[in-house]
Amino acid sequence: MRSMNFYIPTKIHVQKDCVSNYMTELASFGTKALIVTGANSSKQNGSLKDVTEALSAQGVLYVIFDSIEQNPSLENVTKAAQVGKEENVDYVIGIGGGSPMDAAKAIAVLIANPDKQAKDLYNPTPLKALPVVEVPTTAGTGSEATPYAILTLHEEKTKRSMAQKVFPELALVDPGYLNFSNKDLLVNTAIDALAHLIESYLNTNADPFNRMLSEYGLDLWGSVKEVLLIEDDPTEEEAETLALASTIAGMAISHTGTSLPHGMSYYLTYEKGIPHGNAVGVFLPAFIDLYEDRSQVKTVLRLLEFRNEKSFFKFIDSLFDIISIEQDELDRYVDGMLSNEKKLANYPFPMTRETMELLFLNSVSVEKKKLFTFFKKNKKEQPAEKIEAVIEPKKQTEAEQLAALRVEQEKAREQAEIKKEEAKKKAMEQEKVEKEKAYREAREKALMAREQAAKEAAEAKKQTSIALEEAGKTTVIPNVLKAKPEEIQKKSKPAGRSLFAPQPEKGEVKATKQEKKKVEMPNIMKNMKKAPEPVKEVLEPIKVEAIKVEEPKKVEPKVVEPKVASTISRPEINNPLESIKRAQAAAEAERKAREEVEKAAQMAAEEAKKAEEAAKAAAVARAAAAARAEELQRRLAEAEKRAEEAKKAIDSLKDE
Ligand code: NAP
Ligand code: FE
Repeated sequence: MRSMNFYIPTKIHVQKDCVSNYMTELASFGTKALIVTGANSSKQNGSLKDVTEALSAQGVLYVIFDSIEQNPSLENVTKAAQVGKEENVDYVIGIGGGSPMDAAKAIAVLIANPDKQAKDLYNPTPLKALPVVEVPTTAGTGSEATPYAILTLHEEKTKRSMAQKVFPELALVDPGYLNFSNKDLLVNTAIDALAHLIESYLNTNADPFNRMLSEYGLDLWGSVKEVLLIEDDPTEEEAETLALASTIAGMAISHTGTSLPHGMSYYLTYEKGIPHGNAVGVFLPAFIDLYEDRSQVKTVLRLLEFRNEKSFFKFIDSLFDIISIEQDELDRYVDGMLSNEKKLANYPFPMTRETMELLFLNSVSVEKKKLFTFFKKNKKEQPAEKIEAVIEPKKQTEAEQLAALRVEQEKAREQAEIKKEEAKKKAMEQEKVEKEKAYREAREKALMAREQAAKEAAEAKKQTSIALEEAGKTTVIPNVLKAKPEEIQKKSKPAGRSLFAPQPEKGEVKATKQEKKKVEMPNIMKNMKKAPEPVKEVLEPIKVEAIKVEEPKKVEPKVVEPKVASTISRPEINNPLESIKRAQAAAEAERKAREEVEKAAQMAAEEAKKAEEAAKAAAVARAAAAARAEELQRRLAEAEKRAEEAKKAIDSLKDE
């Protein structure tokens, strides 16, 4: 038998006017109380007045902190605790919905531990706390009967239940405060209570003790569920049932904790501002749908008086707008949930990423309208079954479509993966075949080229002999063959060089003394000296080719890779016929060049002659000009002389 336990240290009174009825108990925790509440509702529904009057009647002092936020933050509770510390309060009273009630628990710890900070509330080492009294004014959270406090952590951008557990000493539940000034508050809070009941029942920690609570709570809740579908406020009786169901739900989760819908809701509340009950409620259908123990699901639905899952889904969907989230938000929320060990531990089946994604995808998507208005008039006449029939099955269809779409996408992704793999394999095989083919072709080409080269080499040998014979040198080849090819090649001039580059000096082709000893080539040197310049020039490459002709094995490339084929095809190295042709072309080019030079020299001589003649003419002209200048000079001097004489004659006349 598995171990079971049950522990609720909270004294709970559920009764109309219970605050004044149990004022002595309310006043029994000290002499000064810190009342924490929201800004408005507790003043409007009379709960604050009831509490303060009861305390005054009992001679207990109090101080009010009425700025508790919805989804209270660490900063908010720190501020309230500061007031409590300054006022030296003995205990804390939370009045309102889950927000002030949760805040009261956190504040009670902070006041009792003045050296601690709000973040220490998340340290699991138990800390003492001042006594807490809770006066709920909503029928949803059940916080009056749980040790939990869910606070907003702005640093983490989410909400989280604090690690410190504080059961209230006393809970005074007066359904008369459930002043449902708007329908949304009723729906949101009632669905929160429903979620507690379901998540407690379908929970790893569920046992017969706590199931007594959740089963009874589900039964109560199911009996008044239609009130959520109408616009009218609940009757007094319905409000009492909702309040009781909510407190019982709190007692149930105080033993089991909540599950995935609560964990998932915190993102929507923090990031989208969705009220707690609404944020939790949208995940309930998908959670019910996913839960693997169908017999337990059936029990839940039976207790709630829903015919089947579908009618439950329709009911929930009719209450809320569909919430839209972005893909990146979905990814982040899924990541967050997959690392939320507490919530995963409360879910008794394995959880995969795909499943978690599906839970979100089947719960949040596109918008749809609320249907409250439609049912307003039909409240009394419409039994549950009929109501279900007229609710548009809109979201269910969408949820199903989404799930189907998801499965399709999954399949498509898998198919794409398989195809990708196949294509990769095929491409690799193809590459291999092509490589082999290229290799074979290259090898064949190389072999052919080698054969061709050998033929051409033989022909070249013949041609070279003829060419040299024509040049009067017939004995070159045999002697060249004695030299090492690389030594001769090193000293040979590159083919195709400029004909106007300096011509080789005598003996320039000579090897060093040492090389000379090794490389015996006296005849070619002699013959080279005698050979006309153009022939000398072209002999260099021919020597190399000739060697290849005679010793093909030494220069024969290893025909293995395609690269070798291209080496073989280089004509300047391997094709003697090409060399002969180039030699002839070079000789022709030089002959032409020499003709050009001679022509130019002739022209220059003619020009020089012309210039000489011109110079002579110029000299004559210069001499004539000089003579003329001399004559003019002479004439000027005579004129000046005559002018002087004339002046003198005039001067002598004046004197007279
Ligand atoms: P709430 O945040 O306490 O209050 C929501 C709004 O309702 C506030 O504007 C409040 O007004 C108003 N209000 C409260 N009582 C009213 C009444 N009788 N008539 C008209 N308006 C009223 O809402 P809640 O849903 O009750 O609590 C949600 C919080 O509880 C969340 O932080 C949630 O995480 C937490 N929670 C705790 C547990 C637990 O086990 N401890 C379980 C579930 C949820 P004013 O505040 O301005 O007066
Ligand atoms: Fe809740």
